[in-house]
Amino acid sequence: MTRRDKPYDIVIVGAGVVGCAVARKLSRYRVRIAVVEKEPDVSMATSCRNSGVLHSGINYEPGTNRARLSVRGNAMMDALCEELKVPIRRIGKLTIALDERDLPLLYKQREQGFENGVPGMEIMNREEMRRIQPGVSGILGLWTPTSAVISPYGLTIALAGNAYANGAEFFLSCAVESVDVRGDGAFIVSAVRHGKRETLVASALVNSAGLHADEVSRMLGVGGKEIYACRGEYFVLDKRLDGSIGTLLYPVPRPKDPGLGIHLTPTVDGNILIGPSADYISGGDREDYATTAPVMETLRREGRRLLPSLVAGDYIRNFSGNRPKTTPPEKGGNADFVIDEPLPGFIRLQGIESPGLTSAPAIAEEVRDLIGARIPLYEKENFIASRGGFTERFAELSMETKVELARADPDYGETVCRCEGVTKREVRDAIENPLGARSLKGIKYRSRAMMGRCQGGFCLPRIARMLREDYGRDIFGYMN
Ligand SMILES: Cc1cc2nc3c(=O)[nH]c(=O)nc-3n(C[C@H](O)[C@H](O)[C@H](O)COP(=O)(O)OP(=O)(O)OC[C@H]3O[C@@H](n4cnc5c(N)ncnc54)[C@H](O)[C@@H]3O)c2cc1C
Repeated sequence: MTRRDKPYDIVIVGAGVVGCAVARKLSRYRVRIAVVEKEPDVSMATSCRNSGVLHSGINYEPGTNRARLSVRGNAMMDALCEELKVPIRRIGKLTIALDERDLPLLYKQREQGFENGVPGMEIMNREEMRRIQPGVSGILGLWTPTSAVISPYGLTIALAGNAYANGAEFFLSCAVESVDVRGDGAFIVSAVRHGKRETLVASALVNSAGLHADEVSRMLGVGGKEIYACRGEYFVLDKRLDGSIGTLLYPVPRPKDPGLGIHLTPTVDGNILIGPSADYISGGDREDYATTAPVMETLRREGRRLLPSLVAGDYIRNFSGNRPKTTPPEKGGNADFVIDEPLPGFIRLQGIESPGLTSAPAIAEEVRDLIGARIPLYEKENFIASRGGFTERFAELSMETKVELARADPDYGETVCRCEGVTKREVRDAIENPLGARSLKGIKYRSRAMMGRCQGGFCLPRIARMLREDYGRDIFGYMN
């Protein structure tokens, strides 16, 4: 080891929800942890590009990692979200049989749910379904009360921040390019940050590189389980429609479908998502997050069918996210998460497609157990379980509290984002994030500025001015 090599017990590649959940879990112990992420912030890939649903576990074949870890992950979320002050809404889900042909599939879901240990399931007839969601169509439904919604990037940012507060180091804008195994079994991780090489040495290596996990595995000569990117496109609807649907409404999934079908998802922040589609990407760029005219047209049509009060002005933006599948296009469907240790100390988390968000805390427990069999894990006495600081949204506070806060800090008295009611203080907190991340998306996800109806038309120039005048930084350094 040279003097410039950085020694760690564990290096985690990838700061999505899975890598950050692992970092947070391991930061409970007396170990040195590094998280290496090629993007300028955490949660910039699949973990910010999904439906944000905590699945109950009815969809997955009994005995699989997806079944076991989604049920366990879902059950862990209330306590985790309370500790990390992340909003979660347990709004439940109706999986709906539209006609007689769907009935065997609906009953199969219930059977799977029983075997997987999903709590509180109920079969409902049309009247019972309509008591939960007025006007819903379909002949029979399966109600799962543990289904919930959460902000996927909110959770990831909170996990990362708490791991950081507990000593995990984050190397952002730092792409892992090669990994070698030294004679004594240590991993030599070679990465590039702003044109400079970083070498990190670790006893254990966790590969949570999402869409690129197979490439990272191949750096160690571990082949197989190739990743195929399968794009899901969405529309985001205006908050005007908040409250139009009070629960998650999904069609019964058909066996060969690579996703769960196009549906409406109310978000934890009060928007509604229409989507996602499911189309394998044919070119080589797994991070091609385009949205396409034919899919947008389908989503508009489906949106009008599912929510007849929709008007053109309700569509405020679109986006897409790519599933890291290990099933090729000609096969379709879904394969199980790959969670194994193909080399001593090398933990491979590959093909973590849906329900990876739901399962993340449970995956982190498994990784802790695998690493614990190799490295002694002693709990820290001073582990900080709760996220510190002020995490509530100013716009949601009572007038009394708002006035009190603005008196104490005038930056609370200045609105930067009109649509979402985000104050200058909240944008400053996002800019001054503990990880030192510099990205507009990071400011957006941390404060919700630029996420409203005008999509930054009003607040972006103000944020640019804040960066220039208050921090001496150029907004172009934040564009990514
Ligand atoms: C359309 C869609 C809808 C979904 N809906 C849901 C849902 O409702 N509920 C649910 O539970 N799950 C859902 N999922 C699945 C869920 O989003 C993923 O399982 C989860 O986000 C995966 O997290 P991750 O941390 O493994 O991957 P990512 O978030 O992709 O993180 C991997 C990170 O590794 C980094 N990286 C890659 N290569 C390198 C390298 N060489 N060096 C350094 N860093 C690297 C990437 O930049 C990235 O930040 C959905 C997925 C999609 C696409």
